[in-house]
Amino acid sequence: QPTLGILGGGQLAQMLALAALPLGVRVTVLEPDPQAPARLCAEHLAAPYTDPQGLARLAGCDAVTLEFENVPLPALAALDGRVPLRPGPGVLARSKHRAREKEALRAAGVGTAPFVTIEEAADLTGALARVGGQGLLKTSELGYDGKGQARVNTDADLGAAWAALGRVPCVLEGLVAFEREVSLAVARTAAGQVAFGPLVENVHRQGILRTSVCRAAPQDTGGRARELARAVAEGWGLEGLLTLEFFELPGGELLVNEVAPRVHNSGHLTQDGGGVSQFEAQVRAVLGLALRDWSPLLPCAMVNVVGVAGPDGQPLHPDWAAIDALPGTRVHLYHKDWRAGRKLGHVNLVAPDEATLHARLRQLEALIP
Ligand code: ATP
Ligand code: MG
Ligand code: MG
Repeated sequence: QPTLGILGGGQLAQMLALAALPLGVRVTVLEPDPQAPARLCAEHLAAPYTDPQGLARLAGCDAVTLEFENVPLPALAALDGRVPLRPGPGVLARSKHRAREKEALRAAGVGTAPFVTIEEAADLTGALARVGGQGLLKTSELGYDGKGQARVNTDADLGAAWAALGRVPCVLEGLVAFEREVSLAVARTAAGQVAFGPLVENVHRQGILRTSVCRAAPQDTGGRARELARAVAEGWGLEGLLTLEFFELPGGELLVNEVAPRVHNSGHLTQDGGGVSQFEAQVRAVLGLALRDWSPLLPCAMVNVVGVAGPDGQPLHPDWAAIDALPGTRVHLYHKDWRAGRKLGHVNLVAPDEATLHARLRQLEALIP
């Protein structure tokens, strides 16, 4: 029986483990938080990522993957050479650091937003003008769900934003006037076989993903996104799975916003659209099992359940009974305590055709604060 180790035990590890089990694969996660979601469906080693015993257990698996890109480098170094780590340190070094990631994307021939790296105060001078006069300042490391970012419209904003972010290394990106945001995942086995997930259209609210939609009809954008994803996967020597977030410009050009070296929130809809899910795809790619493209068979969508408080500060809850009554929905919860702004679960929706999908998606969105 193959065994898979996962660094991180959050909801992505929970869903990876749930996809691994029917393939006959047993999962062990190394995750410091004793209450982390994956504890319920995988063997959970509740220890720091750098714990020697925990790492020795992972090194005994057939392969190790991750659900969280901010694993400390010493933990990755401790696994190096003892067990296949997929994606490997080369991909992770790029994707955990925004400035390096953008440079590595350009080296692979992929477009990004205009950007300037900010490492010291002198780098601020003239930076905003160089990215087009309006931008977003983002910390190079550790940001997610729009945390560690600030909109800047003037040089004074820029100085204040960098101070507020703690004067840590940052990237100043030009503000992109995108037509829409899309994402696409690519997997590559150690033997070099490449496969793709579907093109997914994403809508964010306050920096957090709200809704993802996967249309039935093939789109030109999908073909171009696959070419770029292949360039990154092959150029970076990917083993495993990664997801690209794109900005699509009004003329159709695709810029890469960022890369996640793993399954992605926008791919959750593949759990219920029919066929292999992104989680199964990652397990297959990492363990070298047979793999093909994992586009859903039916139009499908996902709405995130995020902690939202009412005017009185009390949690606002989704209307679960009405969600259950809506045809084609399926609820996925992460076993996490409520906290404002925290991702607590998601609801997938599948429909026989696109018109039905969109009508029901409007209903579903109205049931989730
Ligand atoms: P996550 O990792 O959770 O996707 P993050 O904190 O890494 O989020 P980004 O993906 O960089 O953040 O940004 C979050 C959202 O903010 C984007 O999906 C997009 O909607 C908007 N955004 C980010 N950068 C830009 C930009 N340069 N121009 C316009 N909008 C942007
Ligand atoms: Mg990110
Ligand atoms: Mg993002």
